[in-house]
Amino acid sequence: MTQPVLVVNCGSSSVKLALYPTFGVASGSIRPSVTALAERLGSDNASLTISGDMQFSTSEPLDHKQALTLFLDKAKDHLNNLKGIGHRVVHGGEVFHESVLLDDDTLASLHEISPLAPLHNPMNLMGIEICRDIMPGVPNVAVFDTAFHQSLPESAYLYGVPYQWYEEHQVRRYGFHGTSYRYVSQEAARRLKQPVEQLNLIIAHLGNGCSACVIRQGRSVDTSMGLTPLEGLIMGTRSGDVDPGLLAHMTNETGASLDELMSDLNRKSGLLGLSDLSNDMRTLLAAEQDDNAGAKRAIDAFCFRVARQLSALSCNLSSTDAVVFTGGIGEHSGEIRRRILAAWRNIPYRLDSSLNDSNGNQSGRISEKGTPLVMVIPTDEELMIATDTYQMTEHD
Ligand code: ADP
Repeated sequence: MTQPVLVVNCGSSSVKLALYPTFGVASGSIRPSVTALAERLGSDNASLTISGDMQFSTSEPLDHKQALTLFLDKAKDHLNNLKGIGHRVVHGGEVFHESVLLDDDTLASLHEISPLAPLHNPMNLMGIEICRDIMPGVPNVAVFDTAFHQSLPESAYLYGVPYQWYEEHQVRRYGFHGTSYRYVSQEAARRLKQPVEQLNLIIAHLGNGCSACVIRQGRSVDTSMGLTPLEGLIMGTRSGDVDPGLLAHMTNETGASLDELMSDLNRKSGLLGLSDLSNDMRTLLAAEQDDNAGAKRAIDAFCFRVARQLSALSCNLSSTDAVVFTGGIGEHSGEIRRRILAAWRNIPYRLDSSLNDSNGNQSGRISEKGTPLVMVIPTDEELMIATDTYQMTEHD
């Protein structure tokens, strides 16, 4: 009898859950039978919605533990004989190079890493502890956003700051979205019928969070996010790269504290800050059609920064098998992909406009036949987490 795997993604005010009833190797076609989204947790207008093979919805004040407990109770008929629970964990520091079966020792290491990601890891840890509490005996696996990038060479992960900052305070570039890049590179290998260990890819993950990564011979060798997920591309509400000197300048100009400015860079910047309208690309594209100047400004800056980043990453490869777009924007917006490639001027890539408009043919190709390959590959981080969990608990 097959055993289901539960995937838990515990964020600051939300929990996303996905239940995979049966399993095999990642093929891009495995779908969860039940999914759930708990939002605005800890506030009066919290909600929990369960969809798929069973349905349930409530709006009542819930915290993380209550939401998880309610889900486990409502979905209990589907959770019999659970094989394992896979948790998304944002930061694995330099300790975790791959996913790990959690025990008291690995949990202690995770607690030690938490200061590196104070906005994320404590929430991920809370999800793990709640599951251990409610379902003792079911193995828990941590899957890290950073792990895939532990292959970065020193030249790519060091900042040009005093080396002691790295030695004593772990200040270095870690990179994020690693689970997505691992999934997308495996899926590209499957579609191209090549071993992933031989693939050279440049991947842009463009969602609410945005980053780009270069894969050489199947391994991440450079990526745009750094110590935290704030570095790199312009994102929904995050600034991406800025001159750290702006913090001193803005403090002098406005008297704002470091905490306030960091919050502004994380929550009020990016597409939202530039457009003064929205963090949502669909909204911005629609507003631009109505001649909204803020929307155009934000989209132009976004596309230019992506092009500049892809160009910079390409220096790592002597030949490129494909440029791949993924994430909500990367998968769905032909217009943004077109503008990114138009802003990246010194390249041989030629989009096929009808394939680009329809988000790719069956293999995901959006470039003209006979020209270097550009692809759209939908990411599936949950499936990657479920796959790792399945594999790591197989002989448990
Ligand atoms: P997250 O990073 O939270 O997982 P997603 O990967 O779902 O987010 O990406 C969300 C972004 O994708 C939003 O900016 C949304 O507007 C954008 N998006 C989704 N569909 C489209 C579309 N058809 N055209 C343009 N942007 C889209």
